[in-house]
This record gives sequence, C-alpha cells and structure tokens, in this order.
Amino acid sequence: MAQVRKCDVVIAGAGPAGAAAAARLVAAGLETVVLERSSPEGRSPCGGVLSPLAQARVASILGKAAHDMDMYSDAFTGLNFHFPSSGNAFTASFKQGPARRVTRPRLDNLLMEASGAEVFSPMEVVSINNATEHLEVHARGPEGQSVYHCRALIGADGAGSTVRGLVYTGLDTGPVFRALRTLHRVIDNPLDPSYVHVWPDTRFGLLAWAHAWGERMVVGLLRQEGQDVSELHDELMERLEEDHGVRLAPPDESADGRVFIGPAITNHYILGKGRIVLTGEAAGFINPPLEGLSTALSTGAIAGDSVAKALKEGSEPSLVYRDFVAEEARNCTDMWNATRLLFGSPHEADIRAGFNSMSQDAQHAVGNDLMRYMKMFKKYGWGWRMIWQGLVRLVLGRYPG
Ligand SMILES: Cc1cc2nc3c(=O)[nH]c(=O)nc-3n(C[C@H](O)[C@H](O)[C@H](O)COP(=O)(O)OP(=O)(O)OC[C@H]3O[C@@H](n4cnc5c(N)ncnc54)[C@H](O)[C@@H]3O)c2cc1C
Repeated sequence: MAQVRKCDVVIAGAGPAGAAAAARLVAAGLETVVLERSSPEGRSPCGGVLSPLAQARVASILGKAAHDMDMYSDAFTGLNFHFPSSGNAFTASFKQGPARRVTRPRLDNLLMEASGAEVFSPMEVVSINNATEHLEVHARGPEGQSVYHCRALIGADGAGSTVRGLVYTGLDTGPVFRALRTLHRVIDNPLDPSYVHVWPDTRFGLLAWAHAWGERMVVGLLRQEGQDVSELHDELMERLEEDHGVRLAPPDESADGRVFIGPAITNHYILGKGRIVLTGEAAGFINPPLEGLSTALSTGAIAGDSVAKALKEGSEPSLVYRDFVAEEARNCTDMWNATRLLFGSPHEADIRAGFNSMSQDAQHAVGNDLMRYMKMFKKYGWGWRMIWQGLVRLVLGRYPG
C-alpha cells in the first residue's frame, strides 16, 4: 500500500505560478508540498523574457538581491510589431524599464528554493479523491504511487493541466495552440536586438516572434494544433530573410509546447471548485505576446493568499480565490481587448503611443492589417464574444458574466 503524507496544501507544478503560491503559503505558516513531474530542463520551451512587472514579482519572492544574482542576460526596451502585408512596423516601449531574459530552469529553481516549500520531483499528479475530511492526491514517481492528504490543492500545472482535467471532466476548452521555439546561430541580423520582434500574421500560424538569446537568436511561432509546423517555420524563415535580411543557421535547438490562450481571450478563466484552485496558465492566464510569466507569478501569489485566508477562516478556497483574482483576470483580458488597446494603455508596453507615432497612411494600413487579423478569431467562435466583451468593458468598466 502507498504511504500517506499529510500536509495543509499540495501544489501540482513547480513552475512560476506554483512557486509564487508556495511562497505565500509557507509565509502564512502552512505546511506546503509541491509535486513536479519533470526536471526543470525538461519543462517549458519558454523564452524566459521577464517583463518589468514580472521582474518586480520575481524580486518579491527572491528579495531585492534578484538583480545581483547574475540571473539576467539580454535586455529589451520594448516590442517591435511588424505588419508584413503592408510593410509597416511600430515600436512600443516598456513603460517601467526594460524586459530582461532569464534561463527558465534557473529561474524556476531559484523561485522554488526561495519559497521554502518541500518539493517532490519527479512526481506526477494522476488522480484526486475528494473525501469528506480531506483531499486525497495520488501521484506517481519513480518508486511508485504516493498519496497526499491535504486541506486544499492548487493546480499550477500549466497549459495542459491534469488537475483542470480531473476537476472539470469533459470540459471543452476550445482549440489547442502550440508554440514552437527554435534557437539559431546568427549569420546576419539587421533587426534591432534591443527589441522583442513580433509578427501578428496568420501566414506563420497565429503569431511569430524573434529576439536575441545571447549571441544567438530565438525564433518562435504559435499555431493551432494540427497545422503543419515545418511549413509554417519555413515560411517564417523565408520572410525573415526576404523582408528583413535576417539570415540564420539551421536551428541547433528546438522545443514545442502547448499554450492555453482561450480563457484569456474570452474572459472565461477556469478557476477551480471547492477546495481545488487553478492558477497560472492552468487557469488560462497568459498575456500577449506570450508574456505568461507576469500573470503566472501574480495569479500564483493570489492563489496562495486565497487558500491561506480560506483555511484560516474555514471558508471555501475556490470562492475566496474567485474574488481575489477578479482584478488580475480583468487586467489579463484587457490586453486582448481591442477597445482597451484603442482607448487605453492596458499593456506594459505603450502600444498606443507606438501606433500613434506612425504616419496617418501607415496607421490606416496597419488598422486594416489588424482588422484582417482579428477576423481569424471568428473561426474559433470568439469573434462576437470579443466584440461584445469589448463594448461592455468600455461602457460599464467591467466584463459581462
Ligand atoms: C515557446 C514559448 C515561449 C514563451 N516565452 C515566454 C517569455 O519569453 N516570457 C513570458 O513571460 N512568457 C513566455 N511564455 C509563457 C510562459 O512560459 C507561461 O505562461 C508560464 O510558464 C506559465 O507558468 P505556470 O507556472 O502557470 O506553468 P508552467 O511554467 O507550464 O509550469 C507548470 C509545471 O507543472 C508541471 N506539471 C504539469 N503537469 C503536472 C502533473 N500532472 N503533476 C505534477 N506536475 C505537473 C510541469 O512540468 C511544469 O513544471 C512562453 C511560452 C511558450 C510556449
């Protein structure tokens, strides 16, 4: 029979959301156990660009010494959006200092270590039994099955969340997107290395991006599952060379991973039930273009605080969380919302100022590009929902339902 370990809270996933939650729970004096199925190296294809907000959130866990830890490499002053169909581009600078790149496995290790939680890895959560007295979390490791009895469970297990699947059996979460990231030796790169370059262009799937990675360059694309990735990647490399003069050696590294963007686009986050709370990308928190680390860190911390408060008061963790995370959910959806981008500045990079800096002709052409781009969401059944949400948010200051 599997040995039983008792604790206050189990967290599935030792990514940034799990670490942020763990830090808050340990600080609240709760016995917290983190179960992680992979080694840090085998986890995420994430490029590790930390927006200014994400850096502040990392510092709140690692302490002010974060900047002295020799963890940051390339710095990026902003985003450079390219619209190949009209040949136009604009830059949007980060309002609160540069974004910086970190190595994801190192970041994950530092955050988890600083949280003070007990980590079991490799240990994969495989099933949950919602008993009356406690939650029973079953996990599988190299030495077989382990069972954890806890008062609450936080699913911080990323885009393909097992916990989400166990709590909401049969839930249709919409189309699945996948990101491919490749790393190349640079032969020639006329693109400004102090920016993260982004192509909101359906010729590359949904979106493509490129940025410096030390002496090398990262190229990424986001597509719907089932699209031919090598065809999209070839098209992207061709356009980089022909439109921008970028010449790269064949990739010497590549990684592919799932991205869960539907809830952030449609404001239908999946937050958990009863004693089980979902956070980070497992709940659907991710900002464009692929800036998931800031929301993973913030919603993870909110999940930790909510569970700590609920356990102290004897209330239901998922209800407290729903309340505490509402503002962060609104902020995350704002970044996909055309009316917010048109009339406000919801993103950390000043997209509106960048757009306004172009000539009127260029603004018109880019406006048309964006209209064509937005139409792509129609095929996922998200078009009207996005328009309706945008209007309600504009008039009432909140999202419907
Ligand atoms: C190609 C790519 C590039 C990206 N680049 C950036 C970037 O530059 N900047 C940025 O801000 N964001 C980027 N993102 C997004 C960012 O990586 C995610 O939003 C972020 O990692 C989400 O954090 P999380 O903690 O919620 O989930 P994750 O980081 O995915 O962590 C989840 C953890 O749970 C573990 N796990 C999964 N299932 C189980 C289970 N059953 N039991 C136990 N453990 C489990 C996983 O192994 C993983 O360690 C990128 C994403 C992709 C795909």
